[in-house]
Amino acid sequence: MRIAFSGTSCAVAAADSGFTSFILSNGEVLILVDASGNPVQSILKMGLDPCDLDIVILTHYHADHISGYPALIQTLSCMNRKKELRVLSDNLTRRKARALIHLLELNTDKLGFTLTYLSEFKRPGISISLVPGHHSVPSSMVKVKDRTTSLFYTSDTVSCPEIAASARGVKVLAHEATASHINLPVLEKDGHSSAYQAGETATKAGVEMLLLCHICWNQYPDSKSVVEEAGRSFSGKIILPELFRWYDL
Ligand SMILES: [Zn+2]
Ligand SMILES: [Zn+2]
Repeated sequence: MRIAFSGTSCAVAAADSGFTSFILSNGEVLILVDASGNPVQSILKMGLDPCDLDIVILTHYHADHISGYPALIQTLSCMNRKKELRVLSDNLTRRKARALIHLLELNTDKLGFTLTYLSEFKRPGISISLVPGHHSVPSSMVKVKDRTTSLFYTSDTVSCPEIAASARGVKVLAHEATASHINLPVLEKDGHSSAYQAGETATKAGVEMLLLCHICWNQYPDSKSVVEEAGRSFSGKIILPELFRWYDL
């Protein structure tokens, strides 16, 4: 399985990095995790055909995670997509996603493809499950396992022991790192965590690799310090993903 990010920013995007969203591909299944910015354009920039997309995972209904969803559906319809699209989320996020589609008067009967809302996905060789998250609104963390690797994604979250417990046994942890640890009181009040806490959880979960994302760039001295902060609590491999670059997991 490989991963490529189209954005690694928090809800305050930067000039050169949009809201956090990424693509997973194992050659059999193509998965978009959170629909922010312009998902179709992002998939094209990764060298893939948006019509090949199999699954969209919506982790929660904050605008930096879901606002691109109606545009994705509209554009796929305009591109004459025929293949069923599976949308994984918790119940409340599903209601919000459907409400967005309804609000913008996208007639799902005339899309040309079926939208199927699910809470998990299992097929020989790959499984995706959602784990209740720890954020300021109901959210889902995501566990993806295929034949060769496994990934746990926190989405937006405060730091808590339940994350490491849920992630234990996976190879790669993708963890938000909204701001530096010196801002901890504000981070916790807003349902977020620091790079240091991401490293702590990676250590407790026993993962090999930590991907950092959902970063408010003006809350760290510079991008190098994001990795340095996580490195104070985790000795494994730490990656601050370059956008549109594929990483093998
Ligand atoms: Zn967010
Ligand atoms: Zn959020």
